[in-house]
Formats: sequence, structure tokens, C-alpha cells
Amino acid sequence: MNIVLFGPPGAGKGTQAHLLERNYGLKHLSTGEMLRAEVRNGTPLGQKVEALLKNGDLVPDGIIIDIIRGCMTGQDCEGCPEEDSCQNGFILDGFPRTVPQAEALEKMLAEHGEKVDHVIVLVVDEDILIERIHKRMEETGVARSDDNEETLRHRLSVYHKQTEPILPYFEQKGLLRKIDGMLPIEEVTARIAAILEEGLAQPLEKAQ
Ligand code: AMP
Repeated sequence: MNIVLFGPPGAGKGTQAHLLERNYGLKHLSTGEMLRAEVRNGTPLGQKVEALLKNGDLVPDGIIIDIIRGCMTGQDCEGCPEEDSCQNGFILDGFPRTVPQAEALEKMLAEHGEKVDHVIVLVVDEDILIERIHKRMEETGVARSDDNEETLRHRLSVYHKQTEPILPYFEQKGLLRKIDGMLPIEEVTARIAAILEEGLAQPLEKAQ
């Protein structure tokens, strides 16, 4: 089962993806995490994308598609070192972010006889996202180079312009489901579980 978790920055995709990984044995693939690891490790790719991440701009499609292709073909890549870790499927968090990325994803999956099974959108009001980032900065100090209000506002405008246009693409295919991402974390998790369990998916403990 392959899931795309969709939503604006700060919607809680990472938190939910982590829980899905634990509950369903799916591999959590976060392109943002992979890119931050490249920057931390000072790799040539990291040096190339560092300013884009800091400013909240998107990395070129070709770069990000190559990273995801590497994961799907089982090549070693940052954040995905285990050969068979995608065996049960994956949760994409932060990819696709443009229509060309969405098309490339479907093509890559089709080459392996696979498809996207669910696209789950976490819907959160913009003022709540701004509040959340202030709270996170107060609680933890600035943890990420793009964790400040100005960059968040820019990332939100990038999301509206470049990422939201993917939604009709997946909607046409009947894959899209929306969830209120302002509900408590456990409630969001329960609603995602209900969507997955409508299909063939079974949580690990129930599947045995
Ligand atoms: P995230 O952790 O998903 O919010 O991603 C952090 C940053 O990484 C984004 O603001 C972009 O600069 C970059 N990034 C992550 N995923 C993608 C993607 N699919 N396409 C382009 N840039 C991306």
C-alpha cells in the first residue's frame, strides 16, 4: 500500500507519517528530511540545495525525482538504507509537490506494477499554522533553517502556487481524501486508519 500524505507545511504530515510507519510497517519517505541530511553532511547535493531550503523554495523537480527513484529501485540513499524497507509500501511526506513530480511518481510506480493507493490531505487553517510555528520556536528554539514566520509565509505561498494544483490531478483519479488536521493528533490518526481500513489495508497486529 502506497500513501501520499498531503498538506501545507506544519500540517502534521511528519507526525502522522511516523505513526503510520509504526502501525502499518510502511516506509516513511520524507524528501525534506533526505535533503536536510544532505545539507548536514555537506554533500555536493546538500551544497546545491542549501539556499533553496533555507529560503523555502522548491528544489528542482529533476533532483527530487532522482532521489525518489533511487529509493524505489532499492538503491542506497540517505534515509532509506535498508534494502527491503519499502516492501510493504511507503508513505510519501513532502513528495510530490508539483504536477510533474506527481506524473513522474505514477510513472515510476507503474514501472514496478504499483500505484498510489491513497492521497490523504491534512487541512489546516493558515493562522493555526503560524501559531503552531511560533509555539514550536518558543518550545524548542529555532530547530530548522526554514523555521521562522517569514519563511513559513513564503513556503505557504509556494504551496498554494506550485503544490495545491496537484489536488485536482489526484481527485480526478478518485484517490483524494481530506481530513481536518486541526483535530487532536490521535483523532487525525484514527481518521487516517479508517480510510486505510476501508480498503485492503490491515494494521500489523490485525493482519497476523
Ligand atoms: P519539508 O520538510 O517537506 O517541509 O521540506 C523542506 C524543504 O525541502 C522544502 O521547503 C523544499 O525546499 C525542499 N523539498 C522537500 N521536498 C521537496 C519536493 N518534493 N520538491 C521540491 N522541494 C522539496
